[in-house]
Amino acid sequence: MIVMKFGGTSVQDEEAIGRVISIVKNRLPEKPLVVVSALSKVTKLLCSIAEAAEAQQEDVVKESLASLRQRHFDLAKALLKDSPLLLEKCLGDLESRIAGLETFAGGVCQIGELSPRSEARIISTGELLSSTIIAYAFNAQGISCQWLDARRMITTDNNYLNARPDLVVTEANVKRVFGMETKGFDLVLTQGFVASASDGSTTVLGFEGSDYSAAIFGMALGAKRVEIWTDVDGIRSTDPRALDSTRRIECLSYEEAAEMAAMGARVLHPLTIEPARNRNIPIMVLNSKNPACAGSTVLRGEESPDGPKSVACRENVVFIKVHSPKMEGITGMLARVFAPLYSNLVPVTLAKATESSVYLVIPEDTDGLEAALAAMEKWAEVTVYRDKSMISVVGRNIVGLEGLGDRIIEASGKVYIANVSADMLSENFVIDRDRLAVTLSTIHDYIFNR
Ligand code: ASP
Ligand code: MG
Repeated sequence: MIVMKFGGTSVQDEEAIGRVISIVKNRLPEKPLVVVSALSKVTKLLCSIAEAAEAQQEDVVKESLASLRQRHFDLAKALLKDSPLLLEKCLGDLESRIAGLETFAGGVCQIGELSPRSEARIISTGELLSSTIIAYAFNAQGISCQWLDARRMITTDNNYLNARPDLVVTEANVKRVFGMETKGFDLVLTQGFVASASDGSTTVLGFEGSDYSAAIFGMALGAKRVEIWTDVDGIRSTDPRALDSTRRIECLSYEEAAEMAAMGARVLHPLTIEPARNRNIPIMVLNSKNPACAGSTVLRGEESPDGPKSVACRENVVFIKVHSPKMEGITGMLARVFAPLYSNLVPVTLAKATESSVYLVIPEDTDGLEAALAAMEKWAEVTVYRDKSMISVVGRNIVGLEGLGDRIIEASGKVYIANVSADMLSENFVIDRDRLAVTLSTIHDYIFNR
């Protein structure tokens, strides 16, 4: 079997869902499990409903719910216009979910309090609605489709908005539900993103979490591959919004994909790699608007080529130098610097240490950073460089890529820190933010178009 995950833009309207149906039709002999996201922008709308409810803005909640209802009803009517019986049932199912949400949001409005648990319940609605419509649409096309509730399968901790699955329990659930409820159907369909805690309350896997759901299902079912369908021709050599001349990466390793995500590339949800790598399941990234394109394949290192794969960047970072007047030694420096970072939950993108200094790269606007720096200033000299960006060349065996450093210095004017990652999967450079665009295009051109 295979897993096919379709993101929000791939299911955004009637035309997009039509494409999904024809893509899936071609794969039916491979017994796909289809995993879908909410329609594009719906999760954001649900977040705003949750916020408005907390702020007791009843009118805003009402208006947003009306537009949520309208969008889903219109879509169901368009897709099911030739199947009046299915349409009636589908509208009934949608209405009971939306009415449930209305009551729940009304309750939040009344008390003016929103817990992560309540928020997860509200924002999970998007996938439950989209998957309902799409399952009916398959049935209307004569493809018998079983709709399964992902919350009965993926069991997580109770970190409601960024829940982490218990993979052992989840695998058993998935196998049990599949074993009992999928026989005789052409196709099985479920939701990305949504899950539940062990007490049955709804949780979500974090934004963009549907990729992760797909990989979890792939692992639990021993899929032959996991296909992630988006609206670009595979994983690109850099962010296509930043540069026109990007290239498709044909093949890359799990480790390279994870490194790209860590260095700021928006490829796959970073946790997606783990379950796939554990069972050695290839992940393909494909374009639902151009299904003929071979996309990108993520697989084991031995099966993928060496060399640079992409230039990733983090646009907004701060670069920090912590210098001690005493020789603390590397152990002492790291211990003293990381204690306040850890206790203030500050994520560090990159760190480098000497006997008396530590250099750090940290995402800008990190809560807790000021508190951590204040703690360090009690014993060290701390210099903060703002308005910086980090640019990273990612790929196996790229170290010493000839001429790279020179070109980066030339294009950026100044490199604040250059660093090779410990696993040698990336070379990273912190530069002034106003030189990011020109440096990115120079480096990308130098690596990929020479
Ligand atoms: N619908 C969720 C989001 O927008 C999950 C996903 O699409 O991956 O983040
Ligand atoms: Mg997505």
